[in-house]
Amino acid sequence: MYEAYWKEIGEKCDVSITIPINQSMSYFANSKSFCWFLEPKLEEQIKRVHTIVGNAVVEDRYIIVGTGSSQLILAAMYALSDRLNHPNPIDVVAATPAYSSYSEMVTFLQSGLLKWSGDARRYDKDGPYIEMITSPNNPDGTIREPVVSNHKGKGMTVHDLAYYWPQYTSITSPADQEIMLFTLSKCSGHAGSRIGWALVKDETTAKKMMNFLVLSSIGVSKESQLRAAKVLETINLSCQSDKPFEVENFFEYSYGVLAQRWNSLRDVIAKNKVFSAPKYPIHYCNFFKKFTHPCPAFVWLKCKNGVDCANLLREYKILARSGARFGSEAEYVRASMLGLDEEFDLFLERLSAIDLLDG
Ligand code: PMP
Repeated sequence: MYEAYWKEIGEKCDVSITIPINQSMSYFANSKSFCWFLEPKLEEQIKRVHTIVGNAVVEDRYIIVGTGSSQLILAAMYALSDRLNHPNPIDVVAATPAYSSYSEMVTFLQSGLLKWSGDARRYDKDGPYIEMITSPNNPDGTIREPVVSNHKGKGMTVHDLAYYWPQYTSITSPADQEIMLFTLSKCSGHAGSRIGWALVKDETTAKKMMNFLVLSSIGVSKESQLRAAKVLETINLSCQSDKPFEVENFFEYSYGVLAQRWNSLRDVIAKNKVFSAPKYPIHYCNFFKKFTHPCPAFVWLKCKNGVDCANLLREYKILARSGARFGSEAEYVRASMLGLDEEFDLFLERLSAIDLLDG
């Protein structure tokens, strides 16, 4: 979805980066910095984008860059579980429907530190646990808070804020949690650069996360970091009133496209009798300085009468991930709202056809 914006910018001005062959060769980016492999240019633009957007507190936070926020999810889980020195693996939970990677990562690792323990709403054990909180949530776009009551102070949280950007949801206040994860994939669309970052309050946790990153990949690609810095710098410039070049505010553009897509999708859903999609309350967005309609990156479609939604859609050549993958029923699917224009148009066309044939 974001490609069209970046194509236009690329045609108007030079936003590419050139890295001379003898530069950025070392493992180190800034040996004096806490996160010594974090490029100073990227750190600066991360701080700036959060300050401009107002979606997270960056002052007095440890900033750790990762190979996508996927690596940081693992780093955070490792850091929280390892510091407890507990004899048994620590339970990891997330409220259903939850981003499928959390359970997949924990189960795949078969680690002595972590154990996947399912739906956070059903969690009633007395031991220490980690709750993953995704807000806005993937797959259903809801705004989330911890749901396990913090029994005896043994609960730890990781806030995955991949979608806490103004194109997806109203920015109501700067997030100020213990561990907050962000990713370029969902902010600008540059998923292939594999850049994510964590904002961490506690020094011991941040150090343990660093250990994980150093052991697993000795830091993060410099080339990717420099490209990410350029992307964020361009976004930041696009938000200024006195711009160095003629460019539309990135978040206004993205919100515009997504809002239009959601309107078209809701029209199709209203006309056909087969599906329903969640409705979201509107909130005042401090960034846009107006009330905005949430426009999640995915639609959480529900098929009426308990029909297996992924199977039905597949018959009409629409590929969507079954609700079962997120711990929900098969009458739900998650479909992306972020494809190319042609893909999204085709999605709506095929969705409408289901109504025509079934109606
Ligand atoms: N968290 C959430 C909630 C996501 O949806 C995704 C991507 N689907 C990620 C993390 C991982 O993003 P990245 O590309 O940065 O690894």
